[in-house]
Amino acid sequence: IFKTEGLKKEYSGKTVLDIEEMEIQKGKITAVIGPSGAGKSTLLHLLNVIEAPSSGSIWFEDSMIGHKALTLDIRRSMVMVFQKPLVFTATVYENLAYGLKLRKMKKEEISQKVEEVLEITGLKDKRNQNAATLSGGEAQRVAIGRAMVVRPKALLLDEPTANLDPANISIIEDLIKFGKANYGLSVIIVTHNMFQAKRLSDNTIFMLNGKIIDYDTTESLFNCPKNEITGAFIDGKM
Ligand code: ATP
Ligand code: MG
Repeated sequence: IFKTEGLKKEYSGKTVLDIEEMEIQKGKITAVIGPSGAGKSTLLHLLNVIEAPSSGSIWFEDSMIGHKALTLDIRRSMVMVFQKPLVFTATVYENLAYGLKLRKMKKEEISQKVEEVLEITGLKDKRNQNAATLSGGEAQRVAIGRAMVVRPKALLLDEPTANLDPANISIIEDLIKFGKANYGLSVIIVTHNMFQAKRLSDNTIFMLNGKIIDYDTTESLFNCPKNEITGAFIDGKM
C-alpha cells in the first residue's frame, strides 16, 4: 500500500532516517520495532505526510505523495493515531460520528457505523459521556474507533497501547484485528511491546539509527532472525 525509495529525513544536518527501499503490504498488519530514537515515529510522519522527507519518494498505492499537499481523497484514505489520544470535548458518540458527518453521510448510515464501532470498542455504555472525561484506555479506544469508523485504507498507529493495562491492550488488539478482517485495513503499528508485535502483526520491521536492519514476516523475524542485532534486540539485550 506504501512504497518508498531513497527516503531520508534530516533535522539540522543530522540524518534520523535513511531507508533505501521499503514496501508495506496491503491488507496486512506491519509492526515497526526498534529502540527509542530509531526513527519509528519519523517514518510514520513521513508516510502520513505530516512531515516532508529531506529526499526520496513515497507512493501510496499508485500515487506519489510526500512533497505536496494531498488530494482530499488520499488524505482521507490514511489515518494516523498518535500516542496521546486526541479526543474532542464532546460525547463519545459525537467523537465517533465526526468523520462520517464530514463525509456528509446519511444519518442512518452514520448511526449504523457508529453502533458497530461502539460495540467493538466496548464503549456502548459510554456513548453519552464527554470524551474529555474518559480514562486513558477508553480515550485511546475512542481515538482508534474514530480512525476506523471512516474505513480508511491505511491506519498508522504510534504506540497505541503504551501505558495501558492488559484489558485495554487486549481490546485494542482485537479492534485492530477486526479492522483488518472486516474492513480490509492495512495497518502499521509502532510498538515497544515485542509480544504485541508477535501476536498481532504479519510482518515486522526492525529499525535502528534511522535504518531498516531487518524486514521479514513476523514469524521469521522473531523465530530465526537473520541479523544478530535483531536477535539481541528482541531478546532484550539492547
Ligand atoms: P521512540 O521509541 O522514543 O518514540 P522513535 O523511534 O519514534 O523513538 P523518532 O521520534 O522518530 O524516534 O526520532 C528519531 C530521531 O529524530 C531522534 O533522535 C529525535 O530526537 C530526532 N527528531 C525527531 N523529531 C525531531 C525534530 N522535530 N527536530 C529535531 N530532531 C528530531
Ligand atoms: Mg516514537
